[in-house]
Amino acid sequence: MLHIGCHLSCSNGYLAMGRQAVSIGADTFQFFTRNPRGGSVKPFDAEDAAALNDFMREHDFAPVLAHAPYTLNAAAADARVREFARMTMREDLERLAHIPQAMLNFHPGSHVKQGAEEGIRLIAQMLDEVYTDDLPTTVLLETMAGKGSEVGRNFEELRAIMDASRAGGRLGVCLDTCHVFDGGYDIVNRLDDVLEEFDRIVGLSRLRAIHLNDSKNTLGSRKDRHEKIGEGGIGLDALTRVINHPALKNLPFYLETPNELDGYAREIALLRGAYAQG
Ligand code: FE
Ligand code: FE
Ligand code: ZN
Repeated sequence: MLHIGCHLSCSNGYLAMGRQAVSIGADTFQFFTRNPRGGSVKPFDAEDAAALNDFMREHDFAPVLAHAPYTLNAAAADARVREFARMTMREDLERLAHIPQAMLNFHPGSHVKQGAEEGIRLIAQMLDEVYTDDLPTTVLLETMAGKGSEVGRNFEELRAIMDASRAGGRLGVCLDTCHVFDGGYDIVNRLDDVLEEFDRIVGLSRLRAIHLNDSKNTLGSRKDRHEKIGEGGIGLDALTRVINHPALKNLPFYLETPNELDGYAREIALLRGAYAQG
């Protein structure tokens, strides 16, 4: 069975997202933990979280994915920005402890002229401070396209963060198909080779989630602009091979394509049809 969902708005709460997911044929979803471009957050509603837990159990959901805000940059040169990253991740992880079936995905950060090595050191330091053993949530590093000074633009940088952090053994990876394609990994013509490379450098056991997106740009463009499934540089055939690949087919897939709810419903139906049963 294909586990698939899409990004949903959290504005009506946790249970509302679960219901919305079911209404479009999804068995999981992704949401922002707080305002993605600011960082403000609503008061936590433990009852709503418990209601989602029950709902997910009743409807056999795959793990849901919480996405940290874009403003979280643990690799920043500015100490105040790094402090915001620490506070935000700590608070989000404390909330997510109430939703055992959630994982937290974040963009490793941007080093802004400090160099990738220093960026990696700062990200690992933040994780050491906030991702303490008492927090049950699995934290995922997202593969980035490499625009600007993004850290995590290749598998080696993700590995380096894991190696530099005491919490490294608990970290997983969320592979974004648009990002790796824009970052230069040819998942259209060489999917097996790319996954072999991932396995050698990071380890396939660390791969816990896939952001399933097409790309508005070409291989290696380092752009990061998502396109609807089948309408971009990756294409439906290649994305069909992704969801059916033996190393990936049991993972949860999350659409982050430029769609409203009805468009997501169509893409989910399309991909369910393209998923080989058995
Ligand atoms: Fe992301
Ligand atoms: Fe993504
Ligand atoms: Zn993106």
